[in-house]
This record gives sequence, structure tokens and C-alpha cells, in this order.
Amino acid sequence: MERDTETVHEAYSFVCLHCGHGWEEEYEIRHTTDLSGHRRADYFARGVRVASPLTRADCPSCNLGPIRILRPGRVNSTRPYLA
Ligand SMILES: [Zn+2]
Repeated sequence: MERDTETVHEAYSFVCLHCGHGWEEEYEIRHTTDLSGHRRADYFARGVRVASPLTRADCPSCNLGPIRILRPGRVNSTRPYLA
């Protein structure tokens, strides 16, 4: 059981340090606090649950990497985000 669900949208820019490929991905991040007070975040991209972009290590162009995250930024500016 969970409560206090908070959803934010963030776009991350990535660049591959191996081949130089750069791309952007938008994530829906659902922050929840369970009844025992533990915070967790689930990431969704295009409606599909994915691993955190912070742990991503493969490049869609060369499948190698490493990957560097350039700049996370919020893309949904219509809703104020209260941290
Ligand atoms: Zn690459």
C-alpha cells in the first residue's frame, strides 16, 4: 500500500563518450512514500516502466558507452513542483 504519490516529468540529455551520440529522453517519475516512510521513485518512459536514467550505461547508437548525463531539466512547467 502506498500514499503520497507525486509525479513529475523530467527530460534528461545524454551523450555517449564512446561514439559521441547525443539524445534526449523524457521521463515520468513517480515519487511515493510507503506506510513505513520509505521514499521510492519509479521511472516511466513513454508509459513503460524503465530503470533510472542515472543507472543507464548503454548507448542506443553503439551499445557501448559509457554514458554521461548532461543536464536534467523539467519539461512540464505548467505544474509547480514542490520538493
Ligand atoms: Zn555510443
